[in-house]
Amino acid sequence: MENCVFCKIVNKEIPCYKIYEDELTLAFLDINPIIAGHVLIVPKKHFENIFDIEEDYLKAIIEASKKISLKIKETLKIEGINLYQANGPIAGQTIFHFHLHLLPRTEGDGIDFIKWMGKMAKKMKAQEMEEIRNKLAIN
Ligand code: AMP
Ligand code: ZN
Repeated sequence: MENCVFCKIVNKEIPCYKIYEDELTLAFLDINPIIAGHVLIVPKKHFENIFDIEEDYLKAIIEASKKISLKIKETLKIEGINLYQANGPIAGQTIFHFHLHLLPRTEGDGIDFIKWMGKMAKKMKAQEMEEIRNKLAIN
């Protein structure tokens, strides 16, 4: 994909701080980390996001996320990691090549979006829950 920064990284046209690579995935440090050890995992083939990524690439990314998470836990001596992934501009996606963020967590790191989600939580009526479940149910 022309003009895609992550395709350029995969094709070695621009450099990255590589962490891990296999047949389908590449993982490297985020260039603007929100915490030390902030890693991105990308498919080596261009997909925009969750809506078009092929399953074998998605599986490979999830498997890579476990390997890298264990490595982060062991070497950075941290207890927790958030996996974060944005799809579409409305969801905060800014690079339109699928990527999964790994965010190592430490006490007092100031990353508060998980707590913020808790504050956003709303009570929904049973009927509304039924309606949305009926729309979303796949099987
Ligand atoms: P998102 O906002 O979820 O689309 O995340 C895009 C991420 O890509 C941001 O965290 C950027 O810091 C990161 N990023 C952009 N360009 C590069 C680059 N050349 N190398 C590594 N990370 C990058
Ligand atoms: Zn791309």
